[in-house]
Amino acid sequence: MSNIQDKVVIITGASSGIGEATAKELAARGVKLVLAARREDRLKNLQEEIEKDGGQVLYKETDVASHDQMEELAAFALKEFGKIDVIVNNAGVMPLSPLHEKKIAEWDSMIDVNIRGVLYGIAAVLPSMRERREGHIINVSSIAGHLVFPAAAVYSGTKYAVRAITEGLRIEEASHNIRTTIISPGTIKTELLEGITGEELKAAIVEDSKIGISPANIARAIAFAIEQPEDVAINEMIVRPTVQE
Ligand code: NDP
Repeated sequence: MSNIQDKVVIITGASSGIGEATAKELAARGVKLVLAARREDRLKNLQEEIEKDGGQVLYKETDVASHDQMEELAAFALKEFGKIDVIVNNAGVMPLSPLHEKKIAEWDSMIDVNIRGVLYGIAAVLPSMRERREGHIINVSSIAGHLVFPAAAVYSGTKYAVRAITEGLRIEEASHNIRTTIISPGTIKTELLEGITGEELKAAIVEDSKIGISPANIARAIAFAIEQPEDVAINEMIVRPTVQE
């Protein structure tokens, strides 16, 4: 029997793409969900859709770059469901640009969301997981956490950081029985490219991303990691389109 049913799972960045697909996949497997993102209308629509199919889901408008809001998110999950089994730190932004363009605000936003957001997510759930000696922290990195592409220096830097932070967490928390998983997707068809502000670069990347696969494929990988026996940790997965070089 699967051990995924009735787990309480927080998903950040659940208002579109991989987070939304993961919410649907996990709801279908009987998980109790707490969804987070900034666009509340999208979360509300997703809640209605999942509830129509019999799923259990709550949501909270949250900016992952705010430490206070992430603590409030974890407190909300604990109050409503009594425990947090899993957090999927998925929220991310990718406004690619070459360094010489000095798009400092975009660098800052990648650092805030992709690195600080993941750290705040870890900080918010760790105390209750340690207390229970049980929990699973899943952080979404990228193939860009393994390779650096032109115009992706800062984005890649944040995604390498996610892998380093998750590996550090694994080493520190293994003796506390807390599982960690790094998910590194290749090209996935989502709204992520909309954050690119350079029109020429955006057009080239949109062209390259035509090989992208559905976010449902990443959702299944996340579900696979969660449903392992408690003494088994899938520490890292790369999931790419077969044809991606
Ligand atoms: P989307 O743009 O579809 O989704 C990004 C999600 O992050 C949205 O739900 C958005 O919600 C949320 N988000 C962004 N900023 C914040 C914030 N400050 N606070 C809370 N939520 C925020 O892209 P994807 O689904 O593709 O991205 C999900 C993750 O997957 C990201 O970490 C991305 O880097 C990673 N990834 C994606 C790949 C791809 O090819 N698509 C490849 C490799 C990794 P809202 O705007 O409502 O806050």
